[in-house]
Amino acid sequence: MGHFRTHRLGELTWTEARDAAALNPIVLIPSGAIEQHGSHLPLNEDAITAEWVSEYIAEHLETPVLVAPTLSYGHSPIFDSFAGTLNLSFETLQAVLFEVMDSLVKHGFRRIVIVNNNGGNQASAAHAADRLRQKHGVLVGSVYPWGIGYRVMRDMYEDPASAYGHGSEPEHSAMLAMFPELVQSQFITDGGFEPFEGWTPTNYSEAAVPGTGEAGTLYWEFSDVAPSGVTGNPHLGSADIGNVWIQRVAHEVCLGFVREFDRNSADASWARSER
Ligand SMILES: [Zn+2]
Repeated sequence: MGHFRTHRLGELTWTEARDAAALNPIVLIPSGAIEQHGSHLPLNEDAITAEWVSEYIAEHLETPVLVAPTLSYGHSPIFDSFAGTLNLSFETLQAVLFEVMDSLVKHGFRRIVIVNNNGGNQASAAHAADRLRQKHGVLVGSVYPWGIGYRVMRDMYEDPASAYGHGSEPEHSAMLAMFPELVQSQFITDGGFEPFEGWTPTNYSEAAVPGTGEAGTLYWEFSDVAPSGVTGNPHLGSADIGNVWIQRVAHEVCLGFVREFDRNSADASWARSER
């Protein structure tokens, strides 16, 4: 918010970056995926949403924040058979995240928050953050906007369990609010799981255990159980619901987390530059 010529790290010069590090800003790393989200939503939605939320935080936080270039490629093996899904392995993604953060620390940026918007990236991000802490003592933060949305939007739907899903709620509504020009509503197909070799899928990688209300995990491909790529109810999306998502997810939780991260790291010994 006015601390730098631009809060986009990639648009600074190296001398501006050197001077920016001296202010000990928080650096956000948007992390997404290029993966299918049905025939009405773009392959890059996780990445552009991570970037949108990061920009929102940078514009609303009172203290200095930089947004690193978005890491668009992610780890989405479950969608591998859908055209256009571009996958990094777990090992590659964690190495890229670690090496980007290692570079940031080398140049004096020790307060780092990953804005990760793909569930498949979570393990890679955790491993990279653990390694960074072991090497530099730096405590890395992370928020997952899509994941937060599942928890804080339940009262917006009559039956959240049937509304929620891949390419459905609440991500479809959030996309209608943030990027209406990228949503092709005319191509919406019905969502839902299909039985697979006797199993009854209940989630991306879970199948019902009859008579228990519980589920077990199976490592199938999404196309095995949801050939259209869509689960949940993709007909419920609206920009109005999406604006509630922005308020609750981006404003209250993501911005709130980074503000809390700022408060708790401002005077922390690990956050002081080694240089
Ligand atoms: Zn996704």
